[in-house]
Amino acid sequence: MSWEDNVRKVVPYTPGEQPKIKNIIKLNTNECPYPPAPAVKECLAAIDYDDFRLYPDPTASKLVKAFSDYYKVPEDQIFVGVGSDDVLAMAFLTFFNSKKPVLFPDITYSFYDVWAELFGIPYKQVPLNDNFEIVKEDYYEENGGVIFPNPNAPTGILQSLDMIEDVIRHNQDVVVIIDEAYIDFGGESCLDLIDKYDNLLVVQTTSKSRAMAGMRIGYAFGSKKLIKYLQDAKYSFNSYTMNRPSIELGAASLSDDEYFKDVCKRIITTRERVKGQLRDLGFEFWDSCSNFVFARHKTVPGKEIFAYLRENGIIVRRWDAPRISEYLRISIGTDEQMDRMIEVLSAMPGIR
Ligand SMILES: *Cc1c(COP(=O)(O)O)cnc(C)c1O
Repeated sequence: MSWEDNVRKVVPYTPGEQPKIKNIIKLNTNECPYPPAPAVKECLAAIDYDDFRLYPDPTASKLVKAFSDYYKVPEDQIFVGVGSDDVLAMAFLTFFNSKKPVLFPDITYSFYDVWAELFGIPYKQVPLNDNFEIVKEDYYEENGGVIFPNPNAPTGILQSLDMIEDVIRHNQDVVVIIDEAYIDFGGESCLDLIDKYDNLLVVQTTSKSRAMAGMRIGYAFGSKKLIKYLQDAKYSFNSYTMNRPSIELGAASLSDDEYFKDVCKRIITTRERVKGQLRDLGFEFWDSCSNFVFARHKTVPGKEIFAYLRENGIIVRRWDAPRISEYLRISIGTDEQMDRMIEVLSAMPGIR
């Protein structure tokens, strides 16, 4: 007998690398290549460090109110957390408390199975079809909950609102979570469906489209009941999760809609241009509706391209996992960064 027998052992989630090297082109964690809204900078300058003595508002009410005003959702239907990872982890803990398996795709955000393992939640990874699409009928079977991102990650493939509603309609006796981390890059949010289905939780983040990954701000919308259950779990875990600057800066990040829409549009424009260039170089990929492209080359192995890009100062993401080991997930950077990437790829032996 050893103390180690009683340790909760987990294989942790592996986040994308945050390299210490300067001048690297970082296209591996889907961060925004542009800065947050200018209002965030102004807000930062006005933050009083003397306030750091004081605990933050445990309800983060200023931030909740900002989301409420922006999305036109009542405050008691909004939950905030330290990045959507925190929101999602809390949602797994709160809502997936069944003996039946929670369903999510085999190729999806690789944190889902980690949380399920951590919390001892039974789960089943449902294979995407050969076109890497989520098949709605696969989610009709008995389960303890459903979760997937829309658009899915790392495929970037968007599902229609009709498909999403169909899955919810067939799963009204469990909680359905739609992770909309990338919805601002061309998708249609299912947010309005929270009025129709009290078992739907819609999770979003300021990390990608609002360029606030470093501030760690995630949020979720749902029925009053659902949000109350989440808050009860959260306050039983850690009351002061959101720090003072994040509450202030998060609220400021919502204040300039013109800037926000412009950033999303620029990223979408660059993405569509890069898709054409990658196709010309012999890459194939599914139609991404997010701020990344998930692509493989027709002849050159993904592992080799990954290494070649890295040698040339460009980092992308690749998983040594079944079905996707030939693919590279390339975040959409600035036009200059993408031009450089295309230049490097064009020079790689075997490509084109
Ligand atoms: C990036 C990402 C998240 C987590 O983002 P946070 O920075 O924790 O808000 C959640 N889900 C998916 C699918 C993501 O890609």
